[in-house]
Amino acid sequence: MVAEQVVYNGNYLVETLANFINGEYCPPVNHQYINNIEPATGLVYGQIPHSDQDDLTLAVSAAETAFPAWRALPLEQRSEILLNIAQGISNNLDELAKAEAIDNGKPISLAKTVDIPRAASNFKFFAHACSQFASESHAMENSAINYTLRQPIGIVGCISPWNLPLYLFTWKIAPALAAGNCVIAKPSEVTPKTAYLLAKICQQAGLPKGVLNIVHGTGASIGSAICDHPKVKAISFTGGTKTGAAIASQVASQFKKLSLELGGKNPALIFSDCDFEHTINEVFRASFANQGQICLCSSRLYIERSIYDKFKNALISKAKALSPQDPLDENSKMGAIVSKDHLHKIKHYIELAKQAGGIILCGGEQVQLSGRCAQGYFLQPTIIENLANDAICNQEEIFGPVITLQPFDNVQQALALANDSQYGLAATVWTSNLSRAHQLAEQLQTGIVWINCWLLRDLRTPFGGMKHSGVGREGGNEAMRFFTETKNICIKY
Ligand code: NAD
Repeated sequence: MVAEQVVYNGNYLVETLANFINGEYCPPVNHQYINNIEPATGLVYGQIPHSDQDDLTLAVSAAETAFPAWRALPLEQRSEILLNIAQGISNNLDELAKAEAIDNGKPISLAKTVDIPRAASNFKFFAHACSQFASESHAMENSAINYTLRQPIGIVGCISPWNLPLYLFTWKIAPALAAGNCVIAKPSEVTPKTAYLLAKICQQAGLPKGVLNIVHGTGASIGSAICDHPKVKAISFTGGTKTGAAIASQVASQFKKLSLELGGKNPALIFSDCDFEHTINEVFRASFANQGQICLCSSRLYIERSIYDKFKNALISKAKALSPQDPLDENSKMGAIVSKDHLHKIKHYIELAKQAGGIILCGGEQVQLSGRCAQGYFLQPTIIENLANDAICNQEEIFGPVITLQPFDNVQQALALANDSQYGLAATVWTSNLSRAHQLAEQLQTGIVWINCWLLRDLRTPFGGMKHSGVGREGGNEAMRFFTETKNICIKY
């Protein structure tokens, strides 16, 4: 690994990360760096390239040179390289999981069991998907036939957020590469470390130079430059709704292909006939996993009135038993909030809830740990009730360990409350009445509905949101279609 300078901050060696361009680690052209802070300690533990247009020029040129050979590589060989990358990720599970826990503040056990295995699965899945991807042919009655080609686009941009760093980074890169494209990828500047480590794995896996280029830095500088570059023909973006809107207007005049996976404010509809124990456990996990920082986390809980108090009290007792710990502790179930700014944003929302008459049933306070985590960004799991559905905390995405509870009296009311949102990413329904579940699934305005489960993922299924939660779908053939250009050929014979 390239380390330009090594400084000791009391906990770690402060490592200087590098871009990965044309198969090599390299410093940013401007030699400017940004601090990377460990959320559990509040200390600077890394420097990341503050890349700009000059780095992008190098990356685009490398990708352009690599593209003809990469697109022409026999499918079997392309697939084999992607499988090597998957294997490389699995072989480095411990190092990657530790890097993710330090960078993001998530419990190391979560990184080991979810984030890193899923990153390997992403490569494995698309290594196979590219060999199974077929296109259509349409025969016509008047001696003509159509067939459709789906060809690689060329150079594509992949921009990802901080909450599931390697998991979401690879969720974009794997299908883009599998479809035969060359990629310019930018991880979040808040959590760059595992993307940096992935580059070495790609080198070792035999990925040809220039096929994947990873540039680090801020959204305003390198992120925006990627979106703007005329040779980057498609952008796959996951992040906040405001950023998605800015990117959509920025690229509109260039008519780029655009996939936007954005924010959510996900409802959970809990009926009195649910399997109580199972539902409590799963809804609790859906509310507070990764400190509530998963776009799919439930944040608005609608509970049938007859079980409202029982469900509320069970949630409160579980929340009181969950306290943040050092993310590097193998027993930690709750880690740190990703950054100081994000912690302040969440605390601000809790204040707004109080001002709007919300009752804080538990949590609501920052937590100070001792030892190495004394300056870290920790927050109690927080449950709020007594807020109207149009209150800010029921309408805006908080993206933290904060949920609101509201009772409902009938299905229509529950549905109306759930759909009363600008967002439409994921909903969960908890009931043993399957016909009611199916009816609700049809009418919920979200791209994903989970019935009696949460975050149960089959990588073949379409993934994404409606309304302000995004445009387009990822996963399976949806991703292969996004990362290819469609061409229909009609032959008269
Ligand atoms: P963000 O929008 O601030 O940043 C996401 C990425 O975009 C980062 O890499 C950032 O550097 C880059 N970026 C910022 N401004 C840019 C610009 N103008 N041009 C190009 N790139 C730019 O989001 P975040 O705070 O990193 O992530 C949290 C958000 O992501 C939440 O809203 C969450 O719901 C959403 N999210 C959505 C999904 C989904 O699948 N729908 C998944 C995970 C996270």
